[in-house]
Amino acid sequence: MENEKITIIEEYGRMTFGDYDKLLAIIDKCPFSANEYCPSAEETVSILMADLKNYTLFIIWILETGYETAENAYDRLFLSKEFNRKFSLAFEEDAPQDFYLSESTKKFHLPGCENVKRIMLKNEKMKRRRMEKNKWKSMTVRRNVTRQELLAKGYIPCRACCKGDHWAE
Ligand SMILES: [Zn+2]
Repeated sequence: MENEKITIIEEYGRMTFGDYDKLLAIIDKCPFSANEYCPSAEETVSILMADLKNYTLFIIWILETGYETAENAYDRLFLSKEFNRKFSLAFEEDAPQDFYLSESTKKFHLPGCENVKRIMLKNEKMKRRRMEKNKWKSMTVRRNVTRQELLAKGYIPCRACCKGDHWAE
């Protein structure tokens, strides 16, 4: 079911409200509601938070279709607090901007990233020593692209500068 839509989330650390709405649409089609069910705080830590990517839909299903009772109040509050700590929604859809692309690592960077500076400096030194161009680590600028476009082309976000793109660890 709806695999395409879930994949977007698995690749992203941050989710836009648009993507969240897609998840809610999946939940709306689900014939079961969580009602008073809620995993214990211990289960939340050891199971759900340990594999957040795969449990995101499940957690949102509990929070959206379940309700609070005297028995589950503590666990529900615990779950929503833990979830909100590790998961964030972004207002802006992926806006186009300039990214630096490394062909050797297939990573995309924001301008000003330490890794970009380091690699450019290394290339400059190699250039001065007249080393063959094939030994340089290629770093190219791509103007006005979105993260979605780069992800679709097989690039992955750099951990140093695109922190928000990764799941909180
Ligand atoms: Zn970077």
